[in-house]
Amino acid sequence: MSGFRYRTRERYEQEERERLAPWAARAGDSAGRLVPEPEHAYRTAFQRDRDRIVHARAFRRLEFKTQVFVYLENDHYRNRLTHTIEAAQVARTIARALCLNEDLAEAITLAHDLGHTPFGHAGEAVLDRCMEEHGGFDHNRQSLRIVDLLENRYPDFSGLNLTEETREGILKHGAAWPHPIPLPPLRPQRSLEAQVADHADEIAYLHHDLDDGLRSGLLSVSLVETTALWKSARAQRASRDAGMADAVVRARTIGALGDGLIGDLIEETSRRLAANPPASLADLRQRTARSSGPGHGPENGSSADLSFSGGGGETIGFSPEIDRGKRELKSFLSENFYRHPDVLRRVRKAEWIVGDLFRAYRDDPNLLPTDVRARFAREGEPRAVADYIAGMTDRFAMDEHKKLFDPHAPI
Ligand code: MG
Repeated sequence: MSGFRYRTRERYEQEERERLAPWAARAGDSAGRLVPEPEHAYRTAFQRDRDRIVHARAFRRLEFKTQVFVYLENDHYRNRLTHTIEAAQVARTIARALCLNEDLAEAITLAHDLGHTPFGHAGEAVLDRCMEEHGGFDHNRQSLRIVDLLENRYPDFSGLNLTEETREGILKHGAAWPHPIPLPPLRPQRSLEAQVADHADEIAYLHHDLDDGLRSGLLSVSLVETTALWKSARAQRASRDAGMADAVVRARTIGALGDGLIGDLIEETSRRLAANPPASLADLRQRTARSSGPGHGPENGSSADLSFSGGGGETIGFSPEIDRGKRELKSFLSENFYRHPDVLRRVRKAEWIVGDLFRAYRDDPNLLPTDVRARFAREGEPRAVADYIAGMTDRFAMDEHKKLFDPHAPI
């Protein structure tokens, strides 16, 4: 270590070459950014992507966007920011264990929900219907619009000018929509880091929706106990749980369940890779996907589009037994939590708010701020309105709705 002062970017890149699996993404081999920039002295390209995402305005707004509950109701439930942080932590654990690029998996996961509308999937479904004749609305596409176009922090480009690898992860599998700047190429598989981000998202929401559902009283332990994953998590801990408070037993069981999913994913993926190791990331990307993965939705609070079949999975995945258990848990949550009458009442209200706002702005664009109207010429009026509504937090959307529709509310 003589002469050592600090770790430079070159040193990180060298460490990645030596330490990561041959099929991992390496910052030093990145396909780069759409607008070329000089590299940073002591951060890799993916670390820099991560930092740009964390400093984005859309990232800060996640704090006031709903997962399942409207954020005002209780300070203990997850919002999209805490969901994102929990998902990023899961992604880092998986990526690190599999000798993948932790920085890239983290950057993709931190960005994965940026494009969510207020009120989660309920808001998204309405905006999609409102935009039916104008190319539709999808939160993954919106995440990419945010990082490519809508963030406005740099003099030389719009958006965050992220690397192709991070954009590939944010894009997920959808590219059947117009995007004003070149999309990353769609290959048979995306990087394993992108696949890790999808699974980390799913593990995080299964874990915390179970927790929030039980905490809220909408779910009961006696109901959840019927699922295989809960039973096996409970059995693992049972001998040590004697005499503990119910809340502690519940927390430990939910923890064991999440830990079990992560452990199985790591072991099954490493079995798959050992059985048929790719020579490189380029080799892996050309391999035809082998199974369906977590896809993107239905997540939290969604009553719409419950029939999606996933598109990704690919190399990263669960063992057949845990995959069955996971599917059972997802349908359990759909039926008993996301479609709980109390949740559906909130979903309906959210749909009315988002739909009313869209129609009000379309009917009278003068209700919009000037910076939104200034974007009409470039984006087209409907897309500029959709971008504006999608960017709102739950709180802002509710206030704005009140201002526009309640005659007693101040303007
Ligand atoms: Mg998510």
